[in-house]
Amino acid sequence: MFIGVQHRSTQAQGMLCRFDCRYCEFEGPARVVGIGDGGATSAYFLDNAASQRKANTRAAAAAVRNGERTLSLARCPECGRRRRLAVLAFWGKTSMMLLLSALMQWAIGAYAFVMGVEFAPYLFGPMGLLVPFVIAYHYRWQWNTVDERVGFIRGTFI
Ligand SMILES: [Zn+2]
Repeated sequence: MFIGVQHRSTQAQGMLCRFDCRYCEFEGPARVVGIGDGGATSAYFLDNAASQRKANTRAAAAAVRNGERTLSLARCPECGRRRRLAVLAFWGKTSMMLLLSALMQWAIGAYAFVMGVEFAPYLFGPMGLLVPFVIAYHYRWQWNTVDERVGFIRGTFI
């Protein structure tokens, strides 16, 4: 059994990046907001401050990664297209994660059933269908807010 405190952190990072479109050759500066979560545990309630700092650092790093991915998914302000490979990679990774979360539930259910827990399929069968929906619901912002988190700075720059 784990004894300690679980620290969580959510951070937003504003980043000034360069956007270049693969299709119409538009390029220009863009302001991106990345959002990330991070966690750390302090065992036996020791050094809570350091654990909170670690959670903050991890969340900030995750926010930068999220910002980079968000920029790659952004719609070009000139031609309106998104980078096809980035969109494919995003949905490929997302579907794989959701599928794995379902398979994990079913694997646990099958294992428990084999070990003699007869009601396990009735619990973990539906869980395998439910868990991916819960995860998708929780992370839907990653796709739904892409266009709100990328702002293009138009105009002539000297
Ligand atoms: Zn374009």
